[in-house]
Amino acid sequence: MCARALPDGRRIPRFVTSCVIEGERLAVVDTSVAPAAPKILAYIESLGRGPEDLAHVINTHCHFDHIGGNGVLAGWARPRFHAHPLDRPWIEDLGLQERGRPVPGMRKISSGPVKVGGALEEGGEIDLGGGVRVQALHTPGHSPGSLSLFVPGDGALISGDVLPEPGTLPIYEDVPATLASLEKLRAVKGAEVLLSAMSKKVWRGREVGEHIDAGEGYVRRIDRLVRQAQGEKGAGVTPEEAGRFVFAALGLPSEAMIAIVGRTFAAHLAIAPLAEERPAGSRERR
Ligand SMILES: [Zn+2]
Repeated sequence: MCARALPDGRRIPRFVTSCVIEGERLAVVDTSVAPAAPKILAYIESLGRGPEDLAHVINTHCHFDHIGGNGVLAGWARPRFHAHPLDRPWIEDLGLQERGRPVPGMRKISSGPVKVGGALEEGGEIDLGGGVRVQALHTPGHSPGSLSLFVPGDGALISGDVLPEPGTLPIYEDVPATLASLEKLRAVKGAEVLLSAMSKKVWRGREVGEHIDAGEGYVRRIDRLVRQAQGEKGAGVTPEEAGRFVFAALGLPSEAMIAIVGRTFAAHLAIAPLAEERPAGSRERR
């Protein structure tokens, strides 16, 4: 859990999830922010394991709040770091990320950087021993190299930040890619548990598909609101103006309309309006 300070000193509580996958060896999925590393270690110890068991760290994507603990974990047992090649440059060079996607205070909660030794792409797999395998799905939209992970033995689908959470800040930079990624998640056979970094809740059974549908519905609702903003303010509406319109309609706090959210609205304005629903026939899953 961390908090982002508003200009008047109030703070918006935020959180990032990390997952530990346990086989003969351990993998940590996303390292959150550097001050959270002791919590990850405490959890590993609660399993009766130690940092020396940590063989792999998988970054679902490059954003600093998912890689902030990389440097701390690198010091524990020299795990191998994995990410999609498209997000690798911003993991290995925090200055590059800071210039390309500035977020105030990002350096304060970052450790590292680290070298990404493993290029994890669509269909890539990591074997943790003991029959535990982690499969990678390339699910871009939130970032170009966003990964989702599936652990078939547990039926666990880890979606990182790709699945927008209704009612929260919408953060993605490519709308069609986001929708295609949600389609890919929906098609994963045997997904019985959904872990999204956008929420602390765990979805199970039928809820998995329902929540993916809800995330897609949120993207489509935002697109409709962006078109309304265009109708009211004219075709030259800026991403920030569209964002303020959408935030007001959704009841989101206007103070949270930060630069990285502006990219979401720029992404909507860059495309033709979405159809109201997915094409017929695309709803079958699992
Ligand atoms: Zn992110």
